[in-house]
Amino acid sequence: MFWPALPGTGSIVAMTHHTVHAYAAPAPKAPLERTTVTRRELGEHDILIDIRFTGICHSDIHMARGEWGEGGHFPLVPGHEIAGVVAEVGPAVTRYAPGDRVGVGCFVDSCRTCENCLAGLEQYCTGELGMVGTYGDTGRDGRVTQGGYATGLVVDERYAVRIPDSLPLDAAAPLLCAGITLYSPLVHWKAGPGTKVAVVGLGGLGHIGVKIAHAMGAEVTVLSQTLRKKDDGLRLGADHFHATSDPATFEALAGTFDLVLNTVSAGLDLNAYFRLLRTDGTFVQLGVPDRPLPVAPFALIGGRRSFAGSKIGGIAETQEMLDFCGRHGITADVEVIPADRINEAYERVVAGDVRYRFVVDASTI
Ligand SMILES: [Zn+2]
Ligand SMILES: [Zn+2]
Repeated sequence: MFWPALPGTGSIVAMTHHTVHAYAAPAPKAPLERTTVTRRELGEHDILIDIRFTGICHSDIHMARGEWGEGGHFPLVPGHEIAGVVAEVGPAVTRYAPGDRVGVGCFVDSCRTCENCLAGLEQYCTGELGMVGTYGDTGRDGRVTQGGYATGLVVDERYAVRIPDSLPLDAAAPLLCAGITLYSPLVHWKAGPGTKVAVVGLGGLGHIGVKIAHAMGAEVTVLSQTLRKKDDGLRLGADHFHATSDPATFEALAGTFDLVLNTVSAGLDLNAYFRLLRTDGTFVQLGVPDRPLPVAPFALIGGRRSFAGSKIGGIAETQEMLDFCGRHGITADVEVIPADRINEAYERVVAGDVRYRFVVDASTI
């Protein structure tokens, strides 16, 4: 799959080793530190992205700390909310040219031939290769993928998306994971004028969900533990804001929502939330709790309610999301930090002390 260097063509692209600066976790639970990674040489359809900003997703922390599954690949460069500018293109690239503003999200490849890949649902790839995560996964060349806490990335053009000119790259970066994670279920379950949507949790995911659902025309309610973030929620576009620590909330809102998007990864009493759905309503789990959650079937049966999951979105839908956000001026609320504050930022994300997404300035890596 690599473009061979042809003698006499003067091609330097094929001969260039792209060693870039990066921040990596050397071992599970070890602080991240500055290092370098060597990206693959540009294949025919590859582009080299000069990374400008990368968001810090909670998944990065779980992966860097080895909290998901055994082993893992270390050293690990996390980061899958990547925004940058195309620096070089392989000889067969048609979609992008140097200077284009592009993003890369949670995956960088998939089998490209299974039913889901052909349907634009690469995130649910069922082929042998499967969805290749942007970091900590094994690519089709057998190499471990390394993510966006780096100054550059080589990726197949089919797994990059275009960032609209109207969106600043720093605040757009979190759209690549957090944005699409909320956009996809909102579209799938038809949020829009006349529908009532609840977003559970006003964090990195939830705050973008509120903005997108509001822009789609839905009536939006934030369900947060306390009323501490009420002013923010209303500013972001919510019509209503309720505290889940108050039992009266669950009485007042029973049977209200067409769609509830749960961004909280801590365990919740799901059954109490199911009862907030109106007939045929759907509760969508987006956060990943670290243990199974009990479901009382009666809460679903009474009201023909559905309990569903949703995982990011495909490449075409991610582009659609970015274009939607471009038209509506939607970005994340971000705190841009230099790379030497990544470890501190991790502590603050775990403590819920960020409004609402940290973004690493790649020029400081
Ligand atoms: Zn993420
Ligand atoms: Zn596939």
